[in-house]
Amino acid sequence: MNGFFRALECRLRALQLAGVRRVPRLWPEAPAPVAAGASPSAGVAASAVDSRPQFGSMAEFARQMRERLGVAGGGAGASKAAPGRSSRSRGAAETARPAAEPEAGQGLPPRRPADAGVDAQLASLAATVARCTRCAELAASRTQTVFADGPSNAELMFVGEAPGQDEDARGVPFVGRAGQLLTKIITAGMGMRREDVYICNILKCRPPGNRNPAPDEAAHCREYLDKQIELVAPKVICCLGGVASRFLLDDATPVGQMRGQWRQYRGIPVRVTYHPAYLLRNYTVDARQKVWDDVREVAAKLRELRG
Ligand code: SF4
Repeated sequence: MNGFFRALECRLRALQLAGVRRVPRLWPEAPAPVAAGASPSAGVAASAVDSRPQFGSMAEFARQMRERLGVAGGGAGASKAAPGRSSRSRGAAETARPAAEPEAGQGLPPRRPADAGVDAQLASLAATVARCTRCAELAASRTQTVFADGPSNAELMFVGEAPGQDEDARGVPFVGRAGQLLTKIITAGMGMRREDVYICNILKCRPPGNRNPAPDEAAHCREYLDKQIELVAPKVICCLGGVASRFLLDDATPVGQMRGQWRQYRGIPVRVTYHPAYLLRNYTVDARQKVWDDVREVAAKLRELRG
């Protein structure tokens, strides 16, 4: 049986060398089912979740298959427990490891020093938003407004759709399951820290039942978002999902067609990618690969603009 897996590993290695794309390692574990009553923006029904195991590399696939079948000798990490294994096969397993990926939480902290004046203006704007009743239905149903999360000197801004149930309860954007996935995207996918980016939404109030924002609600709230962008002055904006891109860019093109290209918002480069909640509903290698590609482009643009 060991011989079979060694042959399999060699074959997979050959495929990898031949250019077969490696599965992204953004989110190696399958997402847990969503509890009943949880916010749709924060997750999806358990039946919609792809619970198949996710493998980070060909070698990892072979190692996990060995473990599942109870076969000794689990790749490079198990080579000490398999004394009969040749140094040649150990070497193959070692080299089959994926190339180094960004370490979580490293790199790209804001370079611009924090400005107390900007902080004060954002605090004043947040106070104005907290009193806002422009959208009567939202103002009556919200627990609180959800202004933003992140430093005023952030160079990267994420713009989402609207608060969900968890965000409405805590007053912070992207703190539910979708938010946890966004944090993984930022750290594992981009090599950044969540506390170094600015995160906000098109709407500052949760739409009842997490329905999509209505155009008039987005129009009412647009002034606040525009002012946030003006004050934070990010180098790059990443739009999360079709609702955010539609209202920020005034363009209803589906995300699938809009992603992969740079747009502009008042001279700021904008990249559109899928909302993390969409990923939770479509937890496939293809969807993750697309978001992986998008956020890497965003990180690369940020580095480019920093010089
Ligand atoms: S969504 Fe925006 S404009 Fe509407 S009530 Fe809330 S803060 Fe005001």
